[in-house]
Amino acid sequence: MPDKITKDAVVSIDYKLTDDKGEVLDSSDETGPLDYLHGQGQIVKGLEEALNDKGVGDNVKITVSPEDGYGKHEDKLVIKVPRDQFDFDIQPGMILDAQDPQGGHMPFQVKEVGDDEVTLDGNHPLASMSLNFDVTIKAVREATEEELSHGHVHDGGCGHNHDEGCGSHDEGCGHHH
Ligand code: ZN
Repeated sequence: MPDKITKDAVVSIDYKLTDDKGEVLDSSDETGPLDYLHGQGQIVKGLEEALNDKGVGDNVKITVSPEDGYGKHEDKLVIKVPRDQFDFDIQPGMILDAQDPQGGHMPFQVKEVGDDEVTLDGNHPLASMSLNFDVTIKAVREATEEELSHGHVHDGGCGHNHDEGCGSHDEGCGHHH
């Protein structure tokens, strides 16, 4: 069992994320500690690098620049689409799944719904922001072979079975995809 965080360790962290005004953007207060597989890009790059070689009980405070966080806000990712392309009651705030040019999934948030046009924004909500993380490491353990082959952490209380392979994880089960 490693006591330092290295690649492929399963790490459990309490975290608080604030913006430059000190406003809390996200924290583990309500959800409980976040478990992730280290070195796999599951958390923002800048934070992951800062956690290398840290151990249980360590507190890490770091400001991650947009470049090492969620990137710069790009105007070209804000697009207008004719409203009649949507056959459902589209509302501001909805997240739509679109395909990026590489064939991956890319979430777009509905910004504005006009009479004729819908404005979609493919930027991450935290794009162009400096991210102030305050992280305490709660646990570090080795990943199981199954976790490594799936590329994510299995937490005991998830209740999902993996018999059908890993395409079937539901949202919200504690897996962080
Ligand atoms: Zn799995």
